[in-house]
Amino acid sequence: MTIAASDLYQKLLAAFRGSPPHGVPPDGAQFGIVSGAPEEWACFGVSVAHAESGFDSRSENLSDPGGSFGIFQYSHEQAFGNAYDVDNSVRAFVRDANASTAGLRDGILGRRFSTIGMHPSLGAAWLPEARQLAGSTGSVPVAPAASAQPVASTGYLHAMPQTVAAFDALYGKLTWTEGGPDRGDITPDPGWVTANIVKMDIPQMHRFTRREPIECHRLIAQPLAAVFASIEQAGKLPLVLSYDGLWVPRHKDHNPSRGISLHSYGSAIDINAEWNPYGHVPAPAGAKGSCVELIPFFEAEGFAWGGYFGGGNASDTDGMHFEWTGRVPVASVADSGGSPLAPESPSLSGGDDQVLDIGLDLVKPA
Ligand SMILES: [Zn+2]
Repeated sequence: MTIAASDLYQKLLAAFRGSPPHGVPPDGAQFGIVSGAPEEWACFGVSVAHAESGFDSRSENLSDPGGSFGIFQYSHEQAFGNAYDVDNSVRAFVRDANASTAGLRDGILGRRFSTIGMHPSLGAAWLPEARQLAGSTGSVPVAPAASAQPVASTGYLHAMPQTVAAFDALYGKLTWTEGGPDRGDITPDPGWVTANIVKMDIPQMHRFTRREPIECHRLIAQPLAAVFASIEQAGKLPLVLSYDGLWVPRHKDHNPSRGISLHSYGSAIDINAEWNPYGHVPAPAGAKGSCVELIPFFEAEGFAWGGYFGGGNASDTDGMHFEWTGRVPVASVADSGGSPLAPESPSLSGGDDQVLDIGLDLVKPA
């Protein structure tokens, strides 16, 4: 019995919206998980089901110990007693997706999706079709509508959804109390700080930081280091004229009546503030202090430029500001499809009852 891919997508989307995994697994990009949105997980699920069963909810593989069944080829135990039941299998898939982000170490290729780990390209093979299908339902994540912008867009997904829920999903739920050293500051929960803020040495910033490490969210530490390394490699470091802060827990624009700034999460950096003040048209390319030539280096690592904010309305433009989006340019996602696998955990073969144990080559054709 075959379930329509679009019906499966809707089931997965509803289940992931009800129980969204927090954060993005380290190996997520090659499976299309770059922002961690439920839509991305649902597309991945559709692609996995295509690989495992051709969407046949009655497919089975009795040569596995105990057998594996249904659209994702779970054991019945793994799928709440009946893996033929599509809703059960969907629930089990969402549970395992959550597990793959829980520690943010093992990732998708770690403990929870072992066969995908052995055949990662198959796990992602049907993503383009899944995305097309998702797009036809109008629910695939898309870039905010671009209106007139201060400078031409380079054609990449820009700012992330500006909601606390989106920030929390990506960076871990931030709780805080009002107040701090300056007007508009907040004081984050120390537990969140310990779990998420790390110190990163960025050698290219030593001239501004007196060799002090920069505090930032753990998810952006590597991308940030890569941005400045590539800026230096391209000989563009002289364009960075000042460093104006990164992790500063506060309201937007230090205004207590506005929302929480992404700087509170340690995922946005300000540079060249003197030449690109908040609420003004940023310094154009070629002018002293302009950030425009630096945009591609930031975008390549998933940072959106605040100079695009406001859709052409200068009062919301923030030309000093680059914020991480959890996304990387499409080209990088495609490139990462062939990246080498992390070695599998030796415990995988030990009958871990959570392992999605399917044996792609043995699955009955649809
Ligand atoms: Zn900023």
